[in-house]
Amino acid sequence: MKLISIFLPYLGCKERCMFCNQQILNDVFVVPGKIQIRKRIEAAIRTLPENEKSEIAFFGCSFSSMDMSMQEEYLQIAEAYSDHVQGVRISAYPGSFPDEEIKLLKKYNVTTIEIGIESLSIGVLKAAGRRYNSEDVLNDISKLKANGFTVVGQLMLGLPGDTKRKFMNAIKELIKTDLDFIRLHPTLILKNSDLEVMYFEKRYEPITLEESLDWMMGAFELLEESQIPLIRVGLFPSKSLTRSSNVIAGPFHPSLGELLKGRIFRKRIEEKLNGDIPENSFLEIFVNPREVSQASGYKKENVIYFIKKFRFMQVKVTQNEEIKPSQVEIRISK
Ligand code: SF4
Repeated sequence: MKLISIFLPYLGCKERCMFCNQQILNDVFVVPGKIQIRKRIEAAIRTLPENEKSEIAFFGCSFSSMDMSMQEEYLQIAEAYSDHVQGVRISAYPGSFPDEEIKLLKKYNVTTIEIGIESLSIGVLKAAGRRYNSEDVLNDISKLKANGFTVVGQLMLGLPGDTKRKFMNAIKELIKTDLDFIRLHPTLILKNSDLEVMYFEKRYEPITLEESLDWMMGAFELLEESQIPLIRVGLFPSKSLTRSSNVIAGPFHPSLGELLKGRIFRKRIEEKLNGDIPENSFLEIFVNPREVSQASGYKKENVIYFIKKFRFMQVKVTQNEEIKPSQVEIRISK
């Protein structure tokens, strides 16, 4: 699915969330005018690959919390391109789907709704100033699904008061719903955010990159057994986000998804390495051809890890057509 993203910074937001800075997240400083939006959509349509499905996506805002008339103005812009795109996607704040809102979204062919769930722990939500509870989120998901929308849930890790247990409980709760997809975002301290103030006043300490990988691996394992795909981890590395001065602290990594996939493979390989391993032996890891780089790890970190930890002379990752994706076989030789 190709997204034609239109960022409408903070429109519909009741306040600015403590962790949010749309200028840094999306490189957008002002709400674009209607002409600008049309130009952006038309330029994107010209480059759409043939037969690729696409949606016009209104992001960076609480779309369904905006005045109905304002929502309608944006939805009418998108409607003008309905011959070229398959639907509309919006980002939304939980608890903003009364019946008349659902009616409006359906009228204008909104197909996908991304809900900023962030956490299901009442303590974490309260500390983050979010005005809803887990029941609101779960009600939203079932109502939206009953009305035929595709629903994406975004969950954050490491907000103030968050713990691995609370995060995993949220994943377990969400697995019981009909959610279509999940995104995971470790909390970063962005410049000019309330979280930055808390950090400098020593009232908040972010989780580390290693902790965030550990939490996400736990989530991945649960999600893998469920029917809910994990479609993204980490924020999209916008130009502003990759400028180091804009991320004050927190588990930022420009290729977090790649890093996580490597760690998942590391765990699978390590589980096979039981028993006594003779020093200075060779380890050959066999994986599906599509997963060689994941098995090797980000910048070959898994290869280095196994050499150091188990004192292998050499570690080699070999592709093998017969091995199914996600599977691993190993051979240790002298
Ligand atoms: S996180 Fe979402 S709801 Fe909060 S200020 Fe940013 S765009 Fe608005």
